[in-house]
Parts: sequence; C-alpha cells; structure tokens
Amino acid sequence: MRPKRAFDTAAAQAGVGSDKAYGAVSVPIYTTAIYRYDAFGRNRGYDYSRGENPTRHAAEKAVAELEGGAHATTFSSGMAAVSAVMTLFRAGDHILCSDDLYGGSYRLFEQILKRYGLRFDYVDMGDPAQVRRKIGKRTRALFIETPTNPMMKIADLRGAAAIAREKGILSIVDNTFMSPALQRPLSLGIDVVVHSATKFLGGHNDLVGGAVVVSDPSLAEKMLFAQKAVGAVLSPWDAWLLLRGLKTLHLRVGRAQENAAALARFLSGHPFVRKTFYPGLPEHPRAATHASQADGPGSIISFELSRERAVPAFLSALKTVLLAESLGGVESLVTHPATMTHADIPPEEQAAVGLTPALVRLSVGVERMDDLEKDLAQALRKAKSSR
Ligand SMILES: *Cc1c(COP(=O)(O)O)cnc(C)c1O
Repeated sequence: MRPKRAFDTAAAQAGVGSDKAYGAVSVPIYTTAIYRYDAFGRNRGYDYSRGENPTRHAAEKAVAELEGGAHATTFSSGMAAVSAVMTLFRAGDHILCSDDLYGGSYRLFEQILKRYGLRFDYVDMGDPAQVRRKIGKRTRALFIETPTNPMMKIADLRGAAAIAREKGILSIVDNTFMSPALQRPLSLGIDVVVHSATKFLGGHNDLVGGAVVVSDPSLAEKMLFAQKAVGAVLSPWDAWLLLRGLKTLHLRVGRAQENAAALARFLSGHPFVRKTFYPGLPEHPRAATHASQADGPGSIISFELSRERAVPAFLSALKTVLLAESLGGVESLVTHPATMTHADIPPEEQAAVGLTPALVRLSVGVERMDDLEKDLAQALRKAKSSR
C-alpha cells in the first residue's frame, strides 16, 4: 500500500512507480495483445490484454486513488463504463435515475436496455420525498448525476446514499461533470462512481474513455468480470493519454473553474441572457447543497438567450469558444443541447426538465478569461441584432 497522499500529489505522480523493469517515470505503453507463459501453467499475472494490460492497470490505479476508491476499471468510452455498471442488473430490475440525464445514458437505457427487461424511471434527485415515493419492490439502484447535464440540477449525495442504504439498493453516481478534483461521491457513502474519461479526466479532447470506481471488493470483481466478458476495454494508448491528462487534473479544473465563475457573473448580468444555470451563483436554488458536497461549482455553465431564434447566430459568431460537443477539456466549447448532445431525448421530456431550444451549454476551458468574455460579448451582440 502507498501512503495516503494529497490529491495534487497523487494526480501529478499518476502512474509513477508502476514500471518495475527500468523505473520509467512515464508509464510505458504496452502495445501487446498477449503475454508469454514462463512455463506451462505459470505466467506473470498477464495473459491477454482484454483482461490485463500494464498501462491500463497503471491508469486504473491512478483513477481509483483520485476518486478515493479501492478499485477502478477503465473502458473504451464513458458509455461502455455505464453499460458495464448495468451488467449488475437483470430483467425485471428497476433503476431510478436523475431526470435531465446525459443524453447518451438516456438513449442506452430507453433504446437498448429496456428491450432486455430493465426498467427506468426519472426523478428530481434533489427531492428526497419524490425519490422515496418512486422506489418500489423491484428497484435495485439509484443512478445519479449532480450537477445534471445540462440544467445543472443538484442532488443531495449524502441523502441519496442514506436512502439507498436504508432500502438495500445500490447508489451510482456519474461524476463526469465534477471530476474527483471537486467531488468524491464514494467518500459521501455512494457505492459506484462512473466517469466519461473523455471529459475532465483526460482533459485534452484527445481520447475517448470511461471508468468505474468502487470500494466494495465484490463490486470490483463484478466490474472486472464485465470488463473482460464484454470487452470494451481502454486501449494502452488511450490509457497512457489518460495518465498524462490526470497529472494536471487539479490545475486544469482549478483554472477552468476560476474562468467559469467570472463568466457566470458576466452572463447572469448580461441583458441578452434570460437565465444562467451555474451552482456557483448565489441564485442557484441548490447552491448550498452543492457547496456541502463538492469543493467548487466547476466549469460548466448553461444559459438561455433572451430570444430562441438568435441561438444559431450566437453559436456561429463565437470564434475563441469552439462550437463542438463534449466538455471538460482545456479548450472552451459551446453546444446546443436540444439539437446536439440531447437530441435523442423527446422534446416533451426536454421541456419537462426545463431544457428549452434557447439553452446553450458552455464548457469553460483554461484560456485567458478576458479573451473568452470578449468572445461571448461580441457573439451576444451579433445574436441580439440578428433576426
Ligand atoms: C460524455 C458523457 C458520458 C458518455 O461518455 P463517452 O465517453 O462520450 O462515452 C456519460 N455521462 C456524462 C455526464 C457525459 O458527459
């Protein structure tokens, strides 16, 4: 066991110490599918890279340490990680999810897993009475996002963990939006953390990956089994990129958050912005709950333009902020959830959670704040005068 060390130290030294052969500080990329046996029945713990790969193992160790979990398994995408978690359930099981869920998770649940007999319901996870009411005899898990994507709704993680424990069901948190630099759900009593490593963990928009982190050994075993049995594993190249990204996680998240806090103030005071959704603004209805369970509001801001028809002009006018899906990288990105990330969620359900076509989502990067503010200001000006 490594001595317990501070988050920043664990991040900066992600992977250090895993090369036993030469002491390489940067973990070697083991691009091998197979491993030779030393003798019949005797190998070195590795036989086939779908099951075991040293580069991937180093990345998994690092992710587990940062999330404060005992074990991490990594996958070829965030959706593969969510799918692996869903192998814990069987036909007839009911899973209660946050409403305003990530569009890809909603698509997996509604368009694929429902056909296998799993049942899903969606509630406001910030409302414990509603959560209790929706838990039935066949409910097996809570699947939580906080803040939600893109409405930035907040769940009470300690409360949800307590309800799950009381009912004898699993609590699962998709922690992609916060990253462990800001929120560590396992320390609040949550059983399973899922990540799209494509976002903050990787941080450079150069890899697609996912991770599941747990503390319970039997859950760890089941996730390892799912990784090997389903086979959607993180490649050694991507594992190396992930390790490299993790080294600056705390710095990137901190700087992006500083930028975001300033931009949220700018946007919420702008006359052509109707509403700004950011848990760091005092007017956010659950800012206090968020502050009680996370170390900061993060760097994702959603906001509504005053006029829906001005959205295309606004998005096309941005120059520094890139119009692209995804979030959590060093570059600032903007998306239009209604037609991009959340297009597979029916319009009625989008409307039910408050997701309107006037909404845009900003993932703030680590550029100079002034450049970002100037860019948003000029695009808002153009949008306002558009018709
Ligand atoms: C992107 C994302 C996912 C899916 O991850 P991929 O790596 O794109 O498969 C899941 N949950 C959230 C919250 C995300 O933002």
